[in-house]
Amino acid sequence: MVHIKSFTFNAFSENTYVLYDDTRQGVLIDPGCYDRQERETLAAFISGEKLEIKHLLNTHGHVDHVLGNAWAKRTYGVQLRVHPLDEQTLRSVQVYAPMYGMAAYEPTEPDGFLEEGDQVTFGDTTLEVLFVPGHAPGHIAFYHAGQAFCIGGDVLFQGSIGRYDLPGGNQQTLLRSIREKLLPLGDAVTVYPGHGPATTIGREKKYNPFLQS
Ligand SMILES: [Zn+2]
Repeated sequence: MVHIKSFTFNAFSENTYVLYDDTRQGVLIDPGCYDRQERETLAAFISGEKLEIKHLLNTHGHVDHVLGNAWAKRTYGVQLRVHPLDEQTLRSVQVYAPMYGMAAYEPTEPDGFLEEGDQVTFGDTTLEVLFVPGHAPGHIAFYHAGQAFCIGGDVLFQGSIGRYDLPGGNQQTLLRSIREKLLPLGDAVTVYPGHGPATTIGREKKYNPFLQS
């Protein structure tokens, strides 16, 4: 059984996820924790649950999703993995983070890469990597078929979709990712997005204004 714990961190109200199973092994996805209090909150949960963090994963390299990367690598001794097409997205954060008032951002390099069809394992759990570009050029999502959920990053939100006006973004590519990669997962699949509440594929197919054509 996979447990999903979410935190909402930093000025962008970004969702950080800890996934873990009954072996107490887990993964940290998009650690947006920036200040000391946010990091203490996340660390207290991980130590309180006696979790062993096996992997550090980014759905994509935008500032709000990566603010805690360097801290997480240091604290948990984990390797950072991203899609190769988002390495540059991640690298550019140090250039613009100060403009968002996040001058304390500590850059870090990826230690390895994940691509479509790769698997991420921890404990008894396997996540499947989906390549879903359009919001960012190397955006990925993490899908668990058995429990019908997807950690989706900034691709599909409740009632909306990710921005496509940022560098490397593209509206047609984003809509294609949603239609070809996410919708076929099935109506029952719960999507845990990078911002806002969780939703389901069925709900978004029915109500999301960007998917009504
Ligand atoms: Zn983003």
